This record gives sequence, C-alpha cells and structure tokens, in this order.
Amino acid sequence: MNEMRTDGAAMRYQSGVSELRQAWAVDIHCEDCGRTRRFHRRELLELDMEGFRTFPQLGSKLCCRHCRERRGEGKNISLNPRWFKHFLQ
Ligand SMILES: [Zn+2]
Repeated sequence: MNEMRTDGAAMRYQSGVSELRQAWAVDIHCEDCGRTRRFHRRELLELDMEGFRTFPQLGSKLCCRHCRERRGEGKNISLNPRWFKHFLQ
C-alpha cells in the first residue's frame, strides 16, 4: 500500500529536521593528507534528497579520494558544517 513503509531510512527521519538543510555548506577535512573539500548548499540538498539527514551519517559514507587512490581507506575525515545563523540560537 504505502511504499514508504518499506524504506526504513526514509521512515526513521521522516518527521525529523534534516541537519543537511540547516547548513549552507560543509567542509570535509581529511586528517591524513590535509585536503579539504566543500559541499555547497545545492549539493547538501541533493544529498538530503538521497536520504542523508545527519552529518555523521554522511561522513560514514564519505572517503578521501586522494588517500584512497594512494594507499588507504581515506576514512580519516572530519566534517565541519557551516550552519545558518538563524539555527544557532
Ligand atoms: Zn586524504
């Protein structure tokens, strides 16, 4: 009947506020090679559409392409969200 019911991720976050929608950008910093990549608002909204709701959730799916191409996992990354000011009360 309701296809949304079969999608656990969508159900779980359906009523919550998406963290990704509260930031205008997020900087993804690789602790291994020092590179930083920025996702802008438009990319965050696209990721939100794909089902990502929190930055830890997003971070668990990301890796540093530079490090992965060279040696390792590229999973030693940290996310630094740039919040909209009106969400910082
Ligand atoms: Zn790296």
